[in-house]
Amino acid sequence: MNKQPNHCIKCTVVSCANHAKKENYCVLDAVKIGTHESNPTVSQCVDCESFVLGNCSTDNCNISK
Ligand code: SF4
Repeated sequence: MNKQPNHCIKCTVVSCANHAKKENYCVLDAVKIGTHESNPTVSQCVDCESFVLGNCSTDNCNISK
């Protein structure tokens, strides 16, 4: 997989396996955005559906192992 940051996709979700780690960008060529709401109205309603749980090796990741 291409691990170079895609500077068209900014992202701060460092716990994702697709995060560039050294820079706040995604390494994917494209991502799929979706929603878990029937009528999304604010940004909290939408999700990156390309998220894949990666190694939690930074202080920013609070996901329990
Ligand atoms: S797949 Fe989504 S959550 Fe994961 S690094 Fe890319 S943009 Fe961020």
